[in-house]
Amino acid sequence: MPLSTKVRALVISRKKIGEADRLVTFFTKEHGLVRAIAKGVRKIPSSRGGHLELFTSVHVLLHESKAGSYVGAVETEEYFQALHADSDALDRAKRAVYALLKLFDVNQQLPEVFDAFTYAWQQFPTLSPEKRRLLESSLHLRMMQFAGLMPELHACAECGSQRPADTVILSPKDGWWKCLLCHPLLPVSSHSLSARQFAILKYIAAKPSDASRIAAQEQEAIPVERAVHLLMAHAVVQS
Ligand SMILES: [Zn+2]
Repeated sequence: MPLSTKVRALVISRKKIGEADRLVTFFTKEHGLVRAIAKGVRKIPSSRGGHLELFTSVHVLLHESKAGSYVGAVETEEYFQALHADSDALDRAKRAVYALLKLFDVNQQLPEVFDAFTYAWQQFPTLSPEKRRLLESSLHLRMMQFAGLMPELHACAECGSQRPADTVILSPKDGWWKCLLCHPLLPVSSHSLSARQFAILKYIAAKPSDASRIAAQEQEAIPVERAVHLLMAHAVVQS
């Protein structure tokens, strides 16, 4: 990064340092995750403190020095008011940020993931419950893809079938799925999905930007979301 850069950034994490400073983690399109120290922002009044709220988008001037990165002038670009007023939507945004911070290092460029986050923060509060589940799932699947931790969804690990007619069993730990009949133990587990649910999962993995357009029922979206959360939990452990 040049010595001073103005970027548009999502504010995704803040940590207190010392008496008055904060370490802020930004998510930017150009540079991925960026950590910078905001000096004096916890003193009142601070012209910058009010512009570093979590889950907002800001224009920020970042200064690089030998001692580290520092936050210069900052101004809020978008507050995401509807997201902040909707606890379910905000929880979804928080889970995605948690995964982002676990899977990726600073300065790793992730422009598609950045666009997907911005879109999701705008869309979550506007969507029906089932579409929220699928949109959040698509965010996690996209992150797994860019982290190189996407499970093998193409074909059954046993028989190679690509279009299971019946229930499938996912093994998040091993990164594969098998048809129920191919699975030696036949467990009735939280890792099983109906053929239709699995088709939805595969579709949003292939086309994450279409996730909120799928006409799915709540009883289809719930197990898909649960399966994606299991896959992400294992991806986080592996990363
Ligand atoms: Zn099979």
